[in-house]
Amino acid sequence: MTSFVPRHVGTWGSDREDMLAAVGVASLDELTDVALPAGLSRHAIEGLPQGRSEQEVLDRLAELASRNTVRTSMIGQGYYDTVTPSVIRRNILENPSWYTAYTPYQPEISQGRLEALVTFQTVVSDLTGMDIANASMLDEATAVAEAVLLATRVTKKRSTVLVSPDIFDATRAVLDTRADALKITLEDLDAATIDSDVAAVVIQYPGASGHVPDLSELTELVDRAHEAGALVIVAADLLALTLLASPGSWGADIVAGTTQRFGVPMSGGGPHAGYLAVKDIHKRQLPGRLVGVSKDRDGAVAYRLALQTREQHIRREKATSNICTAQVLLAVMAAAYAVYHGPEGLTRIAERIHRHAVELATRLSAHGISLSSTSFFDTVELTVPGGADRALAGLLSRNITAWRVDDKRVRLSCDERTTESIIDDIVDALVDTSVSGSEIAPALPPSLARSDEFLTHPTFHRYRTETLLMRYLKSLADKDYALDRGMIPLGSCTMKLNSAIEMAAITWPGFASIHPFAPAQDRAGYRELVVELESWLSAATGYDGVSLQPNAGSQGELAGLLAIRGYHLSRGDTARHVCLIPASAHGTNAASAVLAGFTVVVVATAADGSIDLNDLDAKIAAHRDQLGAIMITYPSTHGIYEDTVGDVCARVHEAGGQVYIDGANLNALVGVARPGDFGGDVSHLNLHKTFAIPHGGGGPGVGPVAARAHLVPFLPSHPLSDNTVTGSASRHAPGFGAVSQAPDGSAGILPISYAYLLLMGGEGLRVATQSAILAANYVAARLDKYLPVLYRGPGGLVGHECIIDVRPLRDETGITVDDVAKRLVDYGFHAPTMSFPVPGTLMIEPTESEDRGEIDRLCEALIGIHDEARRVAEGDWPADDNPLVNAPHTAAHALVGEWTHPYSREQAVYPSIGSDVLAEPGLAAAAAAGKYWPPVRRIDGPYGDRNLVCSCPPIEDYV
Ligand SMILES: *Cc1c(COP(=O)(O)O)cnc(C)c1O
Repeated sequence: MTSFVPRHVGTWGSDREDMLAAVGVASLDELTDVALPAGLSRHAIEGLPQGRSEQEVLDRLAELASRNTVRTSMIGQGYYDTVTPSVIRRNILENPSWYTAYTPYQPEISQGRLEALVTFQTVVSDLTGMDIANASMLDEATAVAEAVLLATRVTKKRSTVLVSPDIFDATRAVLDTRADALKITLEDLDAATIDSDVAAVVIQYPGASGHVPDLSELTELVDRAHEAGALVIVAADLLALTLLASPGSWGADIVAGTTQRFGVPMSGGGPHAGYLAVKDIHKRQLPGRLVGVSKDRDGAVAYRLALQTREQHIRREKATSNICTAQVLLAVMAAAYAVYHGPEGLTRIAERIHRHAVELATRLSAHGISLSSTSFFDTVELTVPGGADRALAGLLSRNITAWRVDDKRVRLSCDERTTESIIDDIVDALVDTSVSGSEIAPALPPSLARSDEFLTHPTFHRYRTETLLMRYLKSLADKDYALDRGMIPLGSCTMKLNSAIEMAAITWPGFASIHPFAPAQDRAGYRELVVELESWLSAATGYDGVSLQPNAGSQGELAGLLAIRGYHLSRGDTARHVCLIPASAHGTNAASAVLAGFTVVVVATAADGSIDLNDLDAKIAAHRDQLGAIMITYPSTHGIYEDTVGDVCARVHEAGGQVYIDGANLNALVGVARPGDFGGDVSHLNLHKTFAIPHGGGGPGVGPVAARAHLVPFLPSHPLSDNTVTGSASRHAPGFGAVSQAPDGSAGILPISYAYLLLMGGEGLRVATQSAILAANYVAARLDKYLPVLYRGPGGLVGHECIIDVRPLRDETGITVDDVAKRLVDYGFHAPTMSFPVPGTLMIEPTESEDRGEIDRLCEALIGIHDEARRVAEGDWPADDNPLVNAPHTAAHALVGEWTHPYSREQAVYPSIGSDVLAEPGLAAAAAAGKYWPPVRRIDGPYGDRNLVCSCPPIEDYV
């Protein structure tokens, strides 16, 4: 095993021996032998790489980066070079306080990133002129697709959408995929009239060609659409909106796009934060996460995820969107970019870009090159005399890449890095100086000049020096609890080490400065990395092909289900539209099934938490001829290796259905057993859980989809890529469909998982999985007599996570699962997953990366809380005034002049452990050494939902 494995795995030597003893097994191998049902393999590392040393891995990544060629990109199409201020790169992107945080479901310990996300929402809603914006979509194309789905929902039953031809090709490709599954008809806007079946018209502003129409053209279109009862969806460039009238000002209903050029590198296609903004009347239809403002118990302003219950369950089979993991880290970066530059700085950047584009157009036209439009922001479309290919070759010889429209036309998009000398080079490459033409004078339409103010909130005016911004970012990070403070024991969301070496390569220019549509030879390093990573993931899962295109687990699910659908349809099996999903499934499962065009039929859960086989048989019998698929999670959402999994797969196969195994939680399987071997036809994996990509506070993610050979031809393809899955386009039905805007999705963070797999190697991965299972079983063994373990699998063991039941304690003491979760904050912990998949329970996943001391500290904290709850039941403390219901305690609360509570201040903020615990000396001392102070007291959720405010509150509210 490599020297890295002991850095990644937290439990070794006597600690491991003690934990094995507590669980009642002699070795890690015995543990997996007992825990896994008969029939599942125990050793599955064939095809996984040999582990390498840290230096070897860095060298290998440097080699891959060097095979990518960084040039001046004028390609545009939604991806622009940008300057990431170093203060933002170092203090956010490279700072574990930001990138290792979890999704802010526990708002009291997430105020920093929630404030940053409200800032993001404010940037988007201000610039677009919309009432309300969410805190991020996966990319521009999926954001536009979600906008279209929203429009079809609110216009009821209307099923035609008119799309402007002047829209990015990749956006159109994703729209085609998504519309096809839901029987929405897409027509070109030009040709069609707007009739009563039209749900929406979609336009791009400025257009993909760069063209900016007149205000009168836009208002005429908006009026026609609204008269016909259709919504107007605008895909807008946020930076252009500093100069152009906002879509809201001329009547748009929904605005979508990307914030990439707000300081986030192109990174081969992602990750970047997409955005979606709507008029107020559509706010409850908005997919994704929405940060709102509420108040805490003392009435102080506090942020939280609004409408959270809606999202956690993602509305299941009534789902409208499946988005779960979004792009929080990138949204935080974009928000910080807007904070740092402010409205004047952003406007200056936009003006400079526009000036360069104008200069370029003017100089080219002076030599007889004709322009498609004289009204543009940053993109100039040209008809080049010698043809597009010759022009591109000339540009390439000067290290410049551009977009090929067709044989005759190219597009050049200026960006924040465009300089005079680049323009000189382009002119040199394209013009024949002996030819002269009539110089034109391009200009944006005066009618569309932006006249209203934006980003007026003080946040956008306060932090103009680097010292001020550095301190602001630090103050936000200090409010939050991330993995750099302690463990985040979340079930269903593996929060393991994201090592520094795994993160190292993502900001190297050889990965960060590559455009996703750069010529293939310029992306050779990425291609090699993708092919190798796909082959390792195939080996880890037992499948024949993998696509890395989906940029979150939810998108992997959608892609996998679309593959199943495509497969059935290709065989003329047109009736197989039913997807069986167990009652306990993750919310995204049912939502994805609906979006892939399936009808969801729920299968009951038996008393022991496993799939109810009788109900499964009944449902199969009732839907035999319509059975398309079953979607199961393994280990189950209860963290159990169900021993009936083979049986379930066989019964569904026998009835003609396909088996989707949700592999988001592969941390219980890698190196041990493979879903492709025990019955799955297709799975998605979450690289941001099992494969070390950090959670980013709620994204980015990568959700590769893996399938057996018969489904591989139906995996995602991409019209703008010569090579998509496993390096071989020919394995795919041409144009089967894109699920992400970029062919390799969030390519820029793939080096993280690549490094993880190579550092660990097959043997190391197997030990990691076994250590994760050991940690979960150790926690189960220690806690069971206080907070009983709800479900167990073979040998009385759990998988990589366990559910502990707080309901008996509640019945006995009145203390709820909420109180336990909030009290854990006082003890210095992030709460486990709460009330999912079973209400009133906590799901704990320690992962392999935590050391025994930290795991014990968590157990002791929970035992301490259990003890405190008993004191409430025994009458030591009143039910409405005790350390649990008042948790979490802030410093301000603990320091009030007169302390009126029946427990001490010390008990409030430095709780000591219960009497029946074998105490390591001084939990209090340990807590004092690294005490985390929550900035707010318990937050009032319903208040925030009733008074939905989703942009920066006026400054008076803070005092
Ligand atoms: C996290 C998770 C998902 C969803 O993945 P996202 O990346 O958040 O979209 C799906 N299924 C299971 C079991 C998960 O744990």
